[in-house]
Amino acid sequence: MAKHKTHYEDCDVLVVGGGMAGTGATFEARHWGRDMKIICVEKANIDRSGAVAQGLYAINCYMGMQWGENQPEDHVRYARNDLMGMVREDLGYDMARHVDSTVHMFDEWGLPMMKNEKTGRYLREGKWQIMIHGESYKPIVAEAAKKSADKIYNRIMITHLLMDESKENRVGGAVGFNMRTGDFHVFRSKTVIVAAGGASHIFKPRAVGEGMGRTWYAPWSNGSAYALPIAVGAKMTQMENRIVLCRFKDGYGPVGAYFLHLKTYTQNANGENYEKKWYDQTKELVGEYIDHHPTPTCLRNHAFIQETIAGGGPIHMVTTEAFQDPHLETVGWENFLGMTVGQAVVWASQNIDPKYTNPELTTSEPYVMGSHATCSGAWVSGPEDLSPPEYFWGYNRMLTIDGLFGAGDTVGGSAHKFSSGSFTEGRLAAKAAVKYIEDQKAADIKVSDKQCEDFKTKVFKPLETYTVAQNEITGGTVSPSYISPIQGLQRLQRIMDEYVGGIATNYMTNGNMLKRGLELLAWLEEDLEKIGAEDLHQLMRAWELKHRALTSQCVTEHTMFREETRWPGYYYRGDHMKLDDDNWHCLTVSRRDPKTGKFSLEKVPVYHIVDENEKRKAS
Ligand SMILES: Cc1cc2nc3c(=O)[nH]c(=O)nc-3n(C[C@H](O)[C@H](O)[C@H](O)COP(=O)(O)OP(=O)(O)OC[C@H]3O[C@@H](n4cnc5c(N)ncnc54)[C@H](O)[C@@H]3O)c2cc1C
Repeated sequence: MAKHKTHYEDCDVLVVGGGMAGTGATFEARHWGRDMKIICVEKANIDRSGAVAQGLYAINCYMGMQWGENQPEDHVRYARNDLMGMVREDLGYDMARHVDSTVHMFDEWGLPMMKNEKTGRYLREGKWQIMIHGESYKPIVAEAAKKSADKIYNRIMITHLLMDESKENRVGGAVGFNMRTGDFHVFRSKTVIVAAGGASHIFKPRAVGEGMGRTWYAPWSNGSAYALPIAVGAKMTQMENRIVLCRFKDGYGPVGAYFLHLKTYTQNANGENYEKKWYDQTKELVGEYIDHHPTPTCLRNHAFIQETIAGGGPIHMVTTEAFQDPHLETVGWENFLGMTVGQAVVWASQNIDPKYTNPELTTSEPYVMGSHATCSGAWVSGPEDLSPPEYFWGYNRMLTIDGLFGAGDTVGGSAHKFSSGSFTEGRLAAKAAVKYIEDQKAADIKVSDKQCEDFKTKVFKPLETYTVAQNEITGGTVSPSYISPIQGLQRLQRIMDEYVGGIATNYMTNGNMLKRGLELLAWLEEDLEKIGAEDLHQLMRAWELKHRALTSQCVTEHTMFREETRWPGYYYRGDHMKLDDDNWHCLTVSRRDPKTGKFSLEKVPVYHIVDENEKRKAS
């Protein structure tokens, strides 16, 4: 261990992950905590890290309140409808009422916003989206964080949270290691804001082998946002609500701008509108939800998946009509160039010019995240002016661990935040974290050297394991006494794919399969004690895998608990194929006991605050 130098840093606000939420948190923490010590720790480099690394073409969450375009209530109704009723409306409303101010700051900071020439307003792509020239979106928000933080640490992966030893259930900081130097870093902090993104690669991806990194969701997002809080006993919510995306095949290029701006549409291989064909069958499963407008994302997926199973594929996006207009053709291509260059490359390699050939679509493998058309994540307190008692325990966006906050993909129950809403949620969490410190809630935290040293031994163990076990390699990477991160990852992905509703089974699972999946995950967990890492990069892979595996256990437990198919098109419980509002119109909340590793689950009421308040006002 002596070869890994230890660095100690004491701070007030520690932000884990410098993506959209993390940069928002770092920026806002400085606004409220002028004299506080604010540190942001990022696994990559905040200039180009997270899901927005490559840039975006649209900001997907902007109310436009100054022009009366939308109000926060409208956004709550929208997200509620899309998630089949299951959202935390207090969190959604709170984000929505602040998101415009975030976007206005982006504008001031130099993010090129497209304007509607006639009205002078931001150019709308859809009801919620505004268009940007967003190749440099991430460096621009990173700049704000860099100017606000006392220090940004790049290339450090946080592996564990530290807990206070003087007061139960209170956070004390975090530890991690530098992937370039191999040094161990201890951050003793009064508050921690986890903003570490979502989770890809827990389900087997469609692209395997040499194409393995080709997923829709950022391949480097490994579920730390969930594993870090789960490991210390924080409550999680809606972890069953994984997301499946309908995207252009092989490149996962986005379809939103195509539908909204280019007015393209989809059809099956025979040129038919297949969505209509599945209306009656879907109504059987979910009742009146299929009549809602806009059609919930999962139900559109459902029609796609059913049509493909029935042999109607491939499904195409009809681009050949829109692309005859030179302006729309340009928009169609530019949409990829600022965000998903790979899709244009895939089309070039497959000889597809969307002006003459309708490109194929696909449904992705499932991902776990909290900021898109899905709301998996931590169970957090809402704001005091909006939240009912079950949803409020003192500080906005604080998890069920004192001093531990979350934002962006980390936070469950609040869907459709996207980039701007995640940044906004980071701001809200940071404001509350500063108040928590000012209220003296973080006094006398004790983190012993022993706690840190124990983590240090744990963190570098895969390097030690490899050093010994490499002597027993029988051929290539095969050894009886260790497993490599890639071997473990592929095993995890197969378990999740085959038992928990991945692409292998057309997103189908059931109680028996989930039970078996949990057994296999438990054995994997045991074997991950023997994971070996030959260098620092593999050490990162080892810890990414451990975080993915813990996240997967939580996803599987939740999927087992919810005995209904609430979101057909995201996954199916074959033993409970129908949506069941009588028994399951509720949120699911779990907690893993850190001592025993056992999960317990409960139902928590879902409050429809927006329209209830309106009804109350009217009566
Ligand atoms: C393909 C795709 C397209 C999208 N398109 C749009 C769009 O057009 N418009 C829009 O508004 N939104 C879009 N979004 C949504 C938007 O990108 C996310 O909502 C937003 O980035 C979430 O913010 P976050 O901070 O939670 O996660 P991220 O921005 O992903 O940031 C997480 C950060 O945590 C770091 N990290 C992870 N683990 C650790 C660890 N253990 N230690 C230290 N650091 C860690 C990561 O490196 C990363 O920098 C898109 C998302 C995806 C995936």
